[in-house]
Amino acid sequence: MASAMVRRSIITHYSKFASSWSLLSRHSSIHNPLSASVSSFHSQPVGGGELPSYMRGAVFWEPNKPLTIEEFHMPRPKAGEVLIKTKSCGVCHSDLHVMKGEIPFSSPCVVGHEITGEVVEHGPLSDSKVKERLPVGSRVVGAFIMPCGNCSYCSKGHDDLCEAFFAYNRAKGTLYDGETRLFLRNSGKPVFMYSMGGLAEYCVVPANGVSALPNSLPYTESAILGCAVFTAYGAMAHAAQVRPGDSVAVIGTGGVGSSCLQIARAFGASDIIAVDVQDEKLQKAKTFGATHTINSAKEDPIEKIIEITGGKGVDVAVEALGKPQTFAQCTQSVKDGGKAVMIGLAQAGSLGEVDINRLVRRKIQVIGSYGGRARQDLPKLIRLAETGIFNLGHAVSRTYTFEESGKAFKDLNEGKIVGRAVIQII
Ligand SMILES: [Zn+2]
Ligand SMILES: [Zn+2]
Repeated sequence: MASAMVRRSIITHYSKFASSWSLLSRHSSIHNPLSASVSSFHSQPVGGGELPSYMRGAVFWEPNKPLTIEEFHMPRPKAGEVLIKTKSCGVCHSDLHVMKGEIPFSSPCVVGHEITGEVVEHGPLSDSKVKERLPVGSRVVGAFIMPCGNCSYCSKGHDDLCEAFFAYNRAKGTLYDGETRLFLRNSGKPVFMYSMGGLAEYCVVPANGVSALPNSLPYTESAILGCAVFTAYGAMAHAAQVRPGDSVAVIGTGGVGSSCLQIARAFGASDIIAVDVQDEKLQKAKTFGATHTINSAKEDPIEKIIEITGGKGVDVAVEALGKPQTFAQCTQSVKDGGKAVMIGLAQAGSLGEVDINRLVRRKIQVIGSYGGRARQDLPKLIRLAETGIFNLGHAVSRTYTFEESGKAFKDLNEGKIVGRAVIQII
């Protein structure tokens, strides 16, 4: 109850400030004329081509203040990194958690972690194999967990647990030499990076987190491969290990949850149950593969899931919201021996409750999963999208311009986005 009240007050606070989002463009035009076009910037020769000297990025300053668009010195990649001209960036709740102060992160920072773009430069000391895999001019998609490739987890192929990613990026807002690649044009002040800092015209990404995107896949829709679909794939393939014929319930059918429905279908799940509080999202869930839908504002989702599965519960339940109440529902919806997979990030410090005796006696598994494994999984996701087994077009419901970045997150916060929204940067 207490945490629900805190959450409500934060949302109320946020919606108050949200009305000031309309000030975004005016605010930014005072400090940084949006009219300045990249082509007017000075250029510098790079690797045979020419890059502008400056770029624009959307900066988060402090909780509950609007993003502003600022000019930066052109970021430069170091060894093992690529500079990407960003084409599109998905609008994700993880960024929103940071922007609302629910998950602490170094600030100011550039948010955005679900990107597609074009490789424009390699780090000067990068391995020739990296350059062969991702030549300048390649179309690429980036995963939000950017594996270092060398730590104890990466060396075992567990890219989703990369120590450098968590120790440097998530804990400090930098890449793996402990430094950011982003510096403001006017003051030279460093600005931190949430993942690659993808809500910008260019971004630097460790090459291990990047895969080539075939020409048949569009830049805009493919952005969601790097977080929403990546997260869903990690949950279904590694945490839940879904098998053909499994019954799967997904609680919360936003961008990540609805990707879970599609991946569950791709993996051959039989009963796929979507749980949400919005009828519109549940209706859409059917196009993603849901065989049953439950509006948990109107009926008890646990009772209903148990009824649908003939009194047993599901093999796999996925929680994609990050709320204590749905965490508990997730653990109570699985059958004996079933897997309750948690992929929704919560406000920092949130705790989930589990019936200990049922967990022990009936071998309930509660499994956390943050994302997929970039080097192994990202190429597979791309193939799923390329072959149409995963329908990217269905998943992306809305697009925004770069200048509308603030509005995109406001709409996400207000629950107005069904499926996933993507910001088109160039
Ligand atoms: Zn995300
Ligand atoms: Zn690593």
